[in-house]
Amino acid sequence: MNCEVVAVGTELLLGQIVDTNSSWIGEQLALAGIDSYFQTKVGDNWQRIRNALELALSRSDAVIVCGGLGPTQDDITRDVIAEVMGVGLEEDPEVVERLLRTFGSRGRSMPMNNLRQAMVPVGATRIPQQPGTAPGLVCPVGDKVVFAVPGVPYEMQEMVTGTVIPELRRRAGDTGVIRSRTLRTWGHSESGIAEMLGHRLEHLDQSGHATIAFLASGIEGLKVRVTAKAATAEEADAVLAAEVDEVASVLADYVFSTDDEPMEAVVLDLLRRRGLTLGTAESVTGGLIASRLTGVPGASDVLRGSVVAYASEVKFDVLGVPAGPVVTDAAAAAMAEGACRALGADVAVATTGVAGPDEQEGVAVGTVFFATTVDGVTETGMVRFPFDRERIRQFTVITVLDHLRRRLLAR
Ligand code: ATP
Repeated sequence: MNCEVVAVGTELLLGQIVDTNSSWIGEQLALAGIDSYFQTKVGDNWQRIRNALELALSRSDAVIVCGGLGPTQDDITRDVIAEVMGVGLEEDPEVVERLLRTFGSRGRSMPMNNLRQAMVPVGATRIPQQPGTAPGLVCPVGDKVVFAVPGVPYEMQEMVTGTVIPELRRRAGDTGVIRSRTLRTWGHSESGIAEMLGHRLEHLDQSGHATIAFLASGIEGLKVRVTAKAATAEEADAVLAAEVDEVASVLADYVFSTDDEPMEAVVLDLLRRRGLTLGTAESVTGGLIASRLTGVPGASDVLRGSVVAYASEVKFDVLGVPAGPVVTDAAAAAMAEGACRALGADVAVATTGVAGPDEQEGVAVGTVFFATTVDGVTETGMVRFPFDRERIRQFTVITVLDHLRRRLLAR
């Protein structure tokens, strides 16, 4: 069984939106053990969508088409699929009823255009999940099948997870269960992590019990995803649990979470369990650390606040940094200690550096000094990131939080 993806939308070709749907679907297919050899992007043009679909059906067993199911005139996916199936369109009364109900409950009358969404190719069945107004469709074409799902990512995802993948696996005669868990690491390169796990990868290759994949995810850390396939969910979970333990013990303190939690949630949790409060003093990260922390529900019982000390005078006047150069480890240390005082926090992190494009005080772009203060003791560090401005800032956030995490664990 193999399946390919056709993403429909002129805006994808113009670069106005990035085709994240295809990559997400690709990942789900791989996880489910379904081969996928092609992904196509095509504009909202009848003939070109038809060509793309026919080509896809000529070389794959199944095709997932995403986008172009909306109510406007350029949403023609349904019509083209009907043509490829060699059938007409018929109104699905249940979809009409649902559309009327959705609009009615919002106190709005339904534009007639929306009725287009109730037109389905004869012989197609509706995908039961319908989070938006566009119904997804399962369209048989001979012994092959086309799945049509909306372009809106959350709608597409619900349908792919709920119907498309199970249906593909059923067609493949695959009745097993696939489960995966993601560990997150920081502090070592992808190749370094892969090398550490070398013997495990070899062992799994031979035993076939599970697979391990790596995914560098910037501020989210370097992810290590372990996937297991077994006859039952319990069996798959047991294989996974054993493998995750094994990987975690090999990677030791590079692992900051074993269930895909972000670094900021892990750090907040460590602080909470120790009854400590946190403050941040941020120059190069401009509040990004505080922003990540406040994105975690319940951060308020730990996070006191943040001083975004961008101008040197703010570092001097608010944080008590001694006059002089401000991109140094001494300045980072003074900022962290100043944040503890100014914010009444037990623990603080601080960042100062050069995100570019120009160097500052003779310090090269990408140079970052950071500091953490824990129990009145301040430690500093320096890193050099050969990246662009945004990535320098993002990598700084996870680096300084990781530094704090390690100190809290050693406490
Ligand atoms: P709806 O019926 O909800 O309008 P649709 O099937 O008509 O869905 P489109 O109109 O093609 O979907 O796209 C709607 C929105 O979904 C786009 O504006 C874009 O934000 C997002 N989207 C569409 N295709 C993709 C894609 N391949 N990757 C990521 N986002 C996408």
